[in-house]
Amino acid sequence: MASYDVIIIGSGPGGYVCAIRCAQLGLKTACVEGRETLGGTCLNVGCIPSKALLHASHQLHEAEHNFAKMGLKVAPKVDWKQMLTYKDDVIGQNTKGVEFLFKKNKIDWLKGWGSIPEAGKVKVGDEVHEAKHIIIASGSEAASIPGAEVTIDEKVVVTSTGALELGKIPKRMVVVGGGVIGLELGSVYARLGTEVSVIEFMDGITPGQDMEVARQFQKILTKQGLKFILGAAVQKVAATKTKATVTYKMRKDDSEESLEADVVLVSTGRKPFTEGLGLDALGVQMTDRGQIATDGSYRTSVAGIYAIGDVIDGPMLAHKAEDEGMAVAEMIAGQHPHVNYDVIPGVIYTHPEVGSVGKTEEQLKAEGVEYKVGKFSFMGNGRAKANFAAEGFVKLLADAKTDRILGAHVIGPMAGDLIHEVCVAMEFGAAAEDLARTCHAHPTYSEAMREAALACGDGAIHA
Ligand code: FAD
Repeated sequence: MASYDVIIIGSGPGGYVCAIRCAQLGLKTACVEGRETLGGTCLNVGCIPSKALLHASHQLHEAEHNFAKMGLKVAPKVDWKQMLTYKDDVIGQNTKGVEFLFKKNKIDWLKGWGSIPEAGKVKVGDEVHEAKHIIIASGSEAASIPGAEVTIDEKVVVTSTGALELGKIPKRMVVVGGGVIGLELGSVYARLGTEVSVIEFMDGITPGQDMEVARQFQKILTKQGLKFILGAAVQKVAATKTKATVTYKMRKDDSEESLEADVVLVSTGRKPFTEGLGLDALGVQMTDRGQIATDGSYRTSVAGIYAIGDVIDGPMLAHKAEDEGMAVAEMIAGQHPHVNYDVIPGVIYTHPEVGSVGKTEEQLKAEGVEYKVGKFSFMGNGRAKANFAAEGFVKLLADAKTDRILGAHVIGPMAGDLIHEVCVAMEFGAAAEDLARTCHAHPTYSEAMREAALACGDGAIHA
């Protein structure tokens, strides 16, 4: 039996970042991971592999649609096996990187599935280890389609995990769920030549997104070949070994329709993963959504046990899990950290990308806040035009009286990077004028951000 200051269960972005911070703060730390490799959903079957496939398929799109315009003559051919090998190499580099960081920081990796037989103890295999503090970072798993008959086989009917390693590129794919994961992976296959249909229960895609952005996003994806069936509730997915039929009901008139596909991707959200931890017996309080209930300091209802990341409330995002991981480590070490949940960016890594932070226009209206909008189209941005990336816009929302930035929504090139300028500005309580008066290098996409800030005042220059 080994004794630690902290044992973390799960090595996803919440768990591994937490372990590194604990070690940096002088705490004797171990991290339990049941997978073969470290890094959790994010590095193994989530953020990183999906971005590798998005990158590869975007290069194909550029070669097919834009290279010739620039005088580059190529005839690209897809080698799917090699694309998957590239994706697996990227995963390997990243998971090995975490392993290296564990060694560097003298963090013990306890290999196997962990449970908590009692507060202060973690069991892995036959071994029981002691810990003053236990942090649960066990993450999430794909949820099924609410109220529908469906069996996932990860070959014909797949979650995102199966979609990242299909045996071949399907001719037809139905994506159930028009959220971030479904649209990213749907984009990958659409670029590879698959006929992709997205069935979404709501009347628009990416629920919760600023609606003007969501509408523009849908238009752009439609132009790229994705088909959308909105306001439809999937009833059943019936599969054979090679294809599946998806039956759905249109919500407006209850009419029943069906679609055939070679692959059905179920991307209707994720749910917390707590199996095997022994939380019931411990009496750890759960929320009615199956998450571990925590207080503002990530403490569960059992003393000495904390929880962070996808397994607790809040957006299921890697960077949210990381921030909570650092915060709980610092708290245990006696510091006073703070995670600002009002400034957590969200990004969709399609092309164009979508990046957002803070309030949407719909939220401000609902809250009765008086606001102004500064908008700037990438059509007015020289760099974007040169790079065939002028679709989309920046929309900055600022308080009508004080000019304080309340939110930003970007659809356009590198939106996922551009958004961070606004995150920093919001953390400092900046006004739109602060952004507008900051010199931005020319020619960059970030000039569009400044122009949107100028549009909150006396007007954008290139509009
Ligand atoms: P996880 O990453 O889920 O890690 C939990 C780990 O705990 C797992 O490795 C699991 O094996 C281990 N574990 C669980 N129980 C035990 C146990 N009892 N014993 C030992 N080990 C255990 N988020 C973003 O921010 N950006 C993105 O671009 C993005 N893309 C995504 C794409 C896809 C396809 C998917 C599925 C998700 C994506 N996400 C993205 C979400 C992101 O992956 C999660 O929010 C993030 O991984 C959550 O981190 P976590 O540390 O809470 O848990």
